[in-house]
Amino acid sequence: MIIKPRVESLELQLLRSLNMRMNLTEKETNNYINLEKGFIGEQKFDEWLEPLPDNFLILNDLLLETSNTTFQIDSLVISPDAINIFEVKNYEGDLIVENENWYTRTGTEIQNPILQLKRCETLLRKLLQQFGHNHTIQVYVVFINPEFYLYQAPLDLPIIFPTQINRFMNKIKLKSLQLKDKHLKLSKQLLAMHLTDSPYKRLPNYDYEILKKGITCEHCHSLNTNYKDRMVVCYDCGHIETHKDAILRSVEEFKLLFPDKKITTSVIYDWCKSNIQKKLIQKILSTYFEQISSGRFTYFIHRDN
Ligand SMILES: [Zn+2]
Repeated sequence: MIIKPRVESLELQLLRSLNMRMNLTEKETNNYINLEKGFIGEQKFDEWLEPLPDNFLILNDLLLETSNTTFQIDSLVISPDAINIFEVKNYEGDLIVENENWYTRTGTEIQNPILQLKRCETLLRKLLQQFGHNHTIQVYVVFINPEFYLYQAPLDLPIIFPTQINRFMNKIKLKSLQLKDKHLKLSKQLLAMHLTDSPYKRLPNYDYEILKKGITCEHCHSLNTNYKDRMVVCYDCGHIETHKDAILRSVEEFKLLFPDKKITTSVIYDWCKSNIQKKLIQKILSTYFEQISSGRFTYFIHRDN
């Protein structure tokens, strides 16, 4: 049973948008690509978790804090006999393990994911103890990509390789114990403790003027789109979207990038920079948003605000 579903992080959404609309540095681009790849890997892992019976409580992307230290868990699965933490890695290519150090084929050292996971385990144990829980915690690094190989991996590492996921899931499914109230209570406590992260301070510097304007493609995110006959068409991948959906999506993107700016017809008309007539944009905004008149100008807010 999914208690906390996985959604795209704000940071990924923002970087995806900035990647299309400005020139990112190499480091920023790599960070963006890693987030995209990581999210794809996590979604693949979610497909594996989906068939688990209801006596498994799943909480995805938890951000928790204990003793002034925050830690993030890709997937936490409460099963009747244990709390399982999964760190999902969507690595491709080869890595080599030497003692506690992990290297690429070219000899560049990378962060040891096992140590990262052990840190999570320690912090989670500490947090649970504060609430009087003493469940068994099991941790796993899941390598989800079949194009990955790990040389010299010691047998005792808590690793699940792509070819083992199926067997692993079948094995844990066999444990058909009943969940107790304490498990449900724990899942609710963890959900309540989840912190909301603000990614804005980690983003590259940007302002409205430097960003490329236009409607991005819903599918491939390209700005190479055109409006015709109430449809927005992508010249790069051929994806077609109704102008209404494309404008509403563009408004959300604008709001995400500029949470303090007001949504007006002129602002969105300039942001979309397409041949969609201004009055059509106004019609869509006034249909789907609440209209606020303030002196000489009118702006729009979400109806549920
Ligand atoms: Zn496209």
